[in-house]
This record gives sequence, structure tokens and C-alpha cells, in this order.
Amino acid sequence: MYGAGDVRVEEVPDAKLEQPTDALVRVVTACICGSDLHPYHSMPASEAGSPMGHEFIGVVEETGSDVSTLQRGDLVIAPFAWSDNTCEFCREGLHTSCRNGGFWAVGGIGGGQAEAIRVPLADGTLVKAPVGEDSALLPSLLTLSDVFLTGHHAAVQARVDVRTTVTVIGDGAVGLSAVLAAKRLGAERIILMGRHTDRTDLGREFGATDVVAERGDAGVERVRELTGGDGTHTVLECVGHMPAYEQAVGVVRAGGVISRVGVPQYEKAPVGFGSLFGRNITLTGGPAPVRAYIEELLPEVLDGCIEPGKVFDRTVDLAGVPDGYRAMDAREALKVLVRP
Ligand SMILES: [Zn+2]
Repeated sequence: MYGAGDVRVEEVPDAKLEQPTDALVRVVTACICGSDLHPYHSMPASEAGSPMGHEFIGVVEETGSDVSTLQRGDLVIAPFAWSDNTCEFCREGLHTSCRNGGFWAVGGIGGGQAEAIRVPLADGTLVKAPVGEDSALLPSLLTLSDVFLTGHHAAVQARVDVRTTVTVIGDGAVGLSAVLAAKRLGAERIILMGRHTDRTDLGREFGATDVVAERGDAGVERVRELTGGDGTHTVLECVGHMPAYEQAVGVVRAGGVISRVGVPQYEKAPVGFGSLFGRNITLTGGPAPVRAYIEELLPEVLDGCIEPGKVFDRTVDLAGVPDGYRAMDAREALKVLVRP
């Protein structure tokens, strides 16, 4: 990406091993993230450009001399943050704060929207999936890189269970994933706030019991009507813009939890007596440590219990990636799968 709206496909030097802990992975499938649309809107023009993509599944082609758990030919899922999986933060399940880890497409690490990529700390980062690269499960497995487990993180941080009513704000792929995650954790009442009927229909299929198309004050009022005036115990905010935060404050029940996984596009927000404090509201959320969740959720994807890959509604090759950004930005596509 060279700036807002400026995505190009280019020949770059081949990815290669640099550290003994690296693996070289050929990308089998990647995708475009809703969070990739933030720089697509606002990135200042840059001569150097930035590689893109942080969700991918690939096949290990080569391993460094210190890599012991992977071999050539393994099909692997890459979390959107790479990590050693051994430091104290990783052991606490917070791989996004790994002492030795980092993120794709920054600091000389490549992006996943590519033919191949160097994976640092490969033993800690990658998770093997026991399927072939032609498996029909790949789209659902790919959601374990980010989108489904980001929705799962929102629900886990909010402490969603059979006891809690849930509002999900946002009908993008993360919001729909949060619906599926809340349902899986036992929530019986899930109100989805979104206004694109084709998307909210998938939300209903994933477990939403109510859909509220209104936004702002009207949306808040509608959720309160649906909940006897109180709002819901948990609110999963999957957008990241200020109006979504304000909506979350408006629909959360006293004593409830607002859990944010949409990357906030603001630094200042109401947290005072009239918004959070006076009603004992907990504010939580952040980047999902997906590496901590993959092994738990992988079996349910493999046996078809859950099909989070239904969020993909368009597939492009590498040449089609710029148009994939355009289509997601124009909301013609919910989430775009990339097959290099
Ligand atoms: Zn770590």
C-alpha cells in the first residue's frame, strides 16, 4: 500500500530465511482484513510503501536450523501476531504482548498478501493443521488467523456465557464472528446492530436472535426496548469508530461489560460518571492473542461444528487484491479471500 486507496501488486525480492528460528512459508490462502481498510482510508502517501496482510495459511518450504516442530510440507496457520509462545506474557495467554514477538508487515517482516513470507520464531508462531492445501476447510481455518478469534476474544473478555445477554455492534466480518463466538459460549440472547441485510442474515444464521438496523440514539433506544429498558450485560464493539463506542455505552446494562475489538480510531472517549463510572461499567478488549486460542478452536473447525469461513464472500488472486480492497471498502464484499 502506497497511500490511501493506492494498493499495488509488485515483484519484490524473494522471501528467504534470515534467522535460525525462521521458517519460509509459501502462502496458500490469505485475506483482506477490515483493519486493512483503516490505512486504505487514511495512509499518507509513501514512496516506500508498506507490505500488507496479516492473515494467512501456508505450506512450510524451508526451516532454519533451530526450528524443531515443523518440517517441509506442513500446512500451517499463522496468527496475526508472531510470538515465541514461551515468554511470561505468552504463558499468560497474551501473545500480542510477547517480549520477543511482533506483527506482520512492519519492521522488515513481510505481509501475508504475497506468494511467500518469512515467519520469525516459527516454532512458537505457527500452528499445524492436519489437512491438505486443497481442503474445503481452508476458509474456516483461515479465520483462526484473526477474524473469528478476534470475535471470540471480544466475547471471552466480556465474559459471555449462558447467563449474559449480548449486543454485538457491527455487521462486518468481525461482528458476525463475535455473534458466532457468543453463541458458542452459550449466550441465548444476541442482538446484532447492523443495517446490511445480507450480512445480518448471516448473523442470524450464526446465532443472532434480534437485529437492530437503527444507529445512534434510535439504535440505543431500540436495544433498550428489546431488553426491558436495561440494555444487555455485554456489548461486543466490533467497529472502532467513536459512534460505535457511544452506542456501546448507550446499550450496556448497569454492571455490564463493553468489550472492544474494533481498532479504535480515537484516543479520547467518555469514561466518566455519566457514561461508565456511575453504572459500574467495565471497559475491556484489545488485539486478540489469537495464538492462545487456535488449539482450542481448531478441532471444532476441523469437525465442522462451526463454519466461521462463511464470512468470505469473494475470492481473488494476487492481481485482484487492489480490487478486493475497493470491493470491501465499497461494501460490495464482506470479506475477501486471496489465493495467490
Ligand atoms: Zn512470548
